[in-house]
Amino acid sequence: MTSGKLSAAEIIALSKEHTFFPWAAQQSVDPLAIDRGEGVYLYTVDGDRILDFNSQLMSVNIGHGDRRVADAIGAQAARLGFVQPGFVTEPRARLGRKLAEIMPGDLDKVFFTVGGAEAVENAIKLARQYTGRHKILARYRTYHGATMGALSLTGDPRRWGNEAGGGGGVVRYPDTHRWGEKDPRPVQESLQGLEDVIRYEGPHTIAAVFLETIVGGNGILIPPDGYIQGVREICDRYDLLMVADEVMAGFGRTGRWFAVDHWDTVPDLMTMAKGLTSSYLPLGAVAMRGHVAEAFDDRPYSGGLTYNSHAVGCAAALATIEVYEQDGLIENAARLGKVMRAHHQRLYDKHPSVGAVRNLGLFGTIEMVRSRDPFTPMAPYNGTSPEMRAVAGHLREHGLFTMVANHMVHTNPPLCVTEEQLEEGFAILDAAFEITDRAVGA
Ligand code: PMP
Repeated sequence: MTSGKLSAAEIIALSKEHTFFPWAAQQSVDPLAIDRGEGVYLYTVDGDRILDFNSQLMSVNIGHGDRRVADAIGAQAARLGFVQPGFVTEPRARLGRKLAEIMPGDLDKVFFTVGGAEAVENAIKLARQYTGRHKILARYRTYHGATMGALSLTGDPRRWGNEAGGGGGVVRYPDTHRWGEKDPRPVQESLQGLEDVIRYEGPHTIAAVFLETIVGGNGILIPPDGYIQGVREICDRYDLLMVADEVMAGFGRTGRWFAVDHWDTVPDLMTMAKGLTSSYLPLGAVAMRGHVAEAFDDRPYSGGLTYNSHAVGCAAALATIEVYEQDGLIENAARLGKVMRAHHQRLYDKHPSVGAVRNLGLFGTIEMVRSRDPFTPMAPYNGTSPEMRAVAGHLREHGLFTMVANHMVHTNPPLCVTEEQLEEGFAILDAAFEITDRAVGA
């Protein structure tokens, strides 16, 4: 291997030889070597342009290669990288204040972590230490992270491996969507399911009810109006903490700062990561309302992380939040969410293999089906299908990256996307769905 710049083939070979890939059989991975990014586009080492229609992991919300964030990171790293928590820094102070300003209600204190899963882990700890109770209620179909506590809350058996979700005081409550159906069940039925579990378990044994405000990776499941408010009301009635996981749904993805804002609801704890720094650096946080924070005024919180409140991470987040504000990205997500809805509808009207479409802001998905009625997904719940693999291949060949997961094709571009770029992406999807249409005999 040569010294100096590595070729794409060398980068791929070394990465496969010496680094381990998540959620994959190591031999099956087929990565592209990426050199740089700019806005909604990535450029491979070989110079090909890729339209990023998923903001990578629904996380690079402001888009790639933003100099303002890069400069803030560089300046802070040059001044000071890291101090232990007996010392505090200006980026930490400013970011704390800024988050308190943009978060709903009296969520005005944050504990900084490295990423989403650790935010969830610390939300579990805070809820248990605050209430003195152990049980956590978590919903089916959610994803909360791959560390042990977050994984046990995750309501998706495909993620459990042999580590088994649940256990450790986690009790599952029903999803807002019935198994195998595309539309949500009636709000009252979902809420009744939650309340039944609370009564069976005994509210005095339960610390908190966790939910993803909008289930992300498992299908952009948007709860019907009234559900989020209903969970809040049940938590108040039974004196349980409500914990909203906004790791994916937060930071403008839905056209509001946080998804809970759509339903004017203030959870007691709220987790975030991804869009907090737009993934320029790893940083997560768990936010808490005044009454939770104050409980630890005169007794210690038992929990910590070396990289809590990392100064460079905090500087990256501050610069990212400034970009959302300066460029009006949240308003853009709300406006272009309507344009995305029209694109989705056109695909639904044209392609019999498109079984369902939904989005809130730029948080969207397309469900591919063999049949609309009865609703029959194009790939099994726990796998893929030749047609879905062909769709993924077509997209890659035509320079579009998005997440093709089981029978779903997610549509989550960076919030800086333009109408023209949306059109460019949807034209490629439109052509790809000829493949699935043929498979259903259309
Ligand atoms: N919660 C949600 C809702 C997520 O989508 C994710 C990541 N996809 C996590 C938690 C875990 O975050 P991380 O991967 O940063 O640990």
